[in-house]
Amino acid sequence: MTTKQSSVFLLTLFLIVLTFVLFCVFDAPYLTRNVSVALPIAGAFLFLIVISSLLKTTFTDPGIIPRPTNREAIEFDRQCGDSMDQRNQGGNANNTRVKVVNVKGQSMKLKFCYTCRLYRPPRASHCSICDNCVLNFDHHCPWVGNCVGQRNYRYFYFFITSLAFLDFFIGACAAVHLALVTNEKNAFIDAIRHTPVSLVVGLICIISIWSIVGLSGFHTYLLATSQTTNEDIKGTFNTKLRPTVKNPFSTGNFCKNIYYGLCGSEPPSLLDRRGVIQPDVLVNIDVETLQRISAANSVRNTASELMEISLQDDTRKSAANTRLNSQTRTETTEDETEEPEVGDTECMPRHSFMTLPTPHCNNGSTQTAKEVYVKENDDLESKTGNSIPMQNLERRVSSD
Ligand SMILES: [Zn+2]
Ligand SMILES: [Zn+2]
Repeated sequence: MTTKQSSVFLLTLFLIVLTFVLFCVFDAPYLTRNVSVALPIAGAFLFLIVISSLLKTTFTDPGIIPRPTNREAIEFDRQCGDSMDQRNQGGNANNTRVKVVNVKGQSMKLKFCYTCRLYRPPRASHCSICDNCVLNFDHHCPWVGNCVGQRNYRYFYFFITSLAFLDFFIGACAAVHLALVTNEKNAFIDAIRHTPVSLVVGLICIISIWSIVGLSGFHTYLLATSQTTNEDIKGTFNTKLRPTVKNPFSTGNFCKNIYYGLCGSEPPSLLDRRGVIQPDVLVNIDVETLQRISAANSVRNTASELMEISLQDDTRKSAANTRLNSQTRTETTEDETEEPEVGDTECMPRHSFMTLPTPHCNNGSTQTAKEVYVKENDDLESKTGNSIPMQNLERRVSSD
């Protein structure tokens, strides 16, 4: 589930592992001999918690909302055609593509995501880095290389809190090591000469602990008040900015909020990772139909035409098959078992064809519903003088 910033995630992993390895090599043996073997064991236990929660945060689906298929998107645009027409005629643009729902008596707006082409549920937001809408979007964390959302927030919280403990623990162990060696050598400078790496490890821990502890405290506050970082930054439930607004997702009890945030049931992923990718749908458009679409002025009519063509595709293919079958029978009456491939361009030599790739793999991170290629033969181009790239059509359909 890592994104483009996987190098930052690898850096995080490297720094944590490096610090722990330095602790194991230079501090743990001395502490085992002179203090207790329990210290290295406790350090290893904390390290395992940190690494496992980090990997879980990185490789868990944060709650990506799958995008609709091309056909669903076109049908949705067609349904929205009327309201778009009203808007184009001087209506209020804010009235379109915004729904208002009631959550525990609190009105909340559902905004339409023009990238994912869907209404975002409450608390969901679009991550520009992952290019997906994410449920209960908290923030995109480059250090873990993933969005933090509904399904991996608790692991992220475990990661930063356990990292704060590990940081403090290793720093304290390095300080104890230096203190004991100073006692033996009777001089701090001699202790540094004897074990310089302990000083380096201690300094790394002291420098980093402030930000980690601060982050842990901030997220503990968010958990207790049942807010996301995104909501806190925007002041969505800030009673000082918006006195009439109440957080409908808060139980009103800090302990209950933390309990539900960390121990509540984990919702299932909406992505179908084992889903089979469906083949592209070929939509055949003859010259007459393409000219009719080209002549259409309104976006609604164009989208509607495309939808009708898409739905009638099977009928057209059947008709083409029937025609070709009858021709084949007249020419080669003996070869009845070999049937032409459906959608073969040779069936319609005078027609252009439009290919609508419809990626049905529900992995929202890779789904692109914008690539449509129009192939036309020279004959047609000279006749119509234009083509209909779907990118342009979509821009027109979804333009503000
Ligand atoms: Zn989106
Ligand atoms: Zn993201």
